Amino acid sequence: MFFHVLTLFPDMIRDGFTTSILGRAAEKRILSLEAVNIRDYTKSRHKKVDDYPYGGGAGMLMQAQPVYDACQAVIEGIQTRKKTAVEEKVRVIYLTPTGQVFSQQLARELAREEDLIFLCGHYEGIDERVLEEIVTDYVSAGDYVLTGGELPAMMIVDAVSRLIPGVLHNDVSAEFESFQDNLLEYPQYSRPEIWHDRQVPPILLSGHHANVEKWRREQSVIRTAKWRPDLLEDAELTMKERELAEEII
Ligand code: SAM
Repeated sequence: MFFHVLTLFPDMIRDGFTTSILGRAAEKRILSLEAVNIRDYTKSRHKKVDDYPYGGGAGMLMQAQPVYDACQAVIEGIQTRKKTAVEEKVRVIYLTPTGQVFSQQLARELAREEDLIFLCGHYEGIDERVLEEIVTDYVSAGDYVLTGGELPAMMIVDAVSRLIPGVLHNDVSAEFESFQDNLLEYPQYSRPEIWHDRQVPPILLSGHHANVEKWRREQSVIRTAKWRPDLLEDAELTMKERELAEEII
């Protein structure tokens, strides 16, 4: 998987990608991350990339030209790597609070792509005309406003990366976790068996796999009903599980 991040702050992106699981995956060349400095593409003599918005208003806006040229350079780079014109449009994701809120479902969809281009805004955002020309997806980190798109871009790179085969030590660990069936993950415990007078649920020590699975599923339903009842609308529950959830909601 090749990630390309268009940003005014490439160090922020690179620093976030050198450690831990993602760093190791990059070393093994399972993932590749290119941070492209939009400022390198400005035609302004003073290396300017922003200007006042027409119609007035607070703050500055990133201009169309450097963003467009940076994106074109990345697309040409992809074509050179693939030694062919890119037939299908590469997805260009603009991080913006006005987009669809990022989800595990979207992470799964994006993990099927070979290349993803992320566009990080700053200041008051980006000239609408270039967005109309290059952006395929508008994605938000959530209903709040950040100073730039770099953190949301890294968040998506992280969530997508761990779905790529070989990135996690044990690919099964990405199979059974929160949001997989519109349920939150069950509680988990490690050694010691008793800590601060709190005992690990005895069923987990029983060695009876079917009962453990049954208990975990029940706990997932209970947690989701308590903390994220909205998810249950699309969850496939048995009649008994639905009754259990309804008792809690
Ligand atoms: N004026 C914009 C608005 O009200 O929608 C906010 C601009 S914000 C200060 C600057 C940049 O940060 C945006 O262009 C976007 O790339 C990024 N950003 C801010 N909040 C975000 C969020 N919740 N999700 C994704 N990107 C965000």
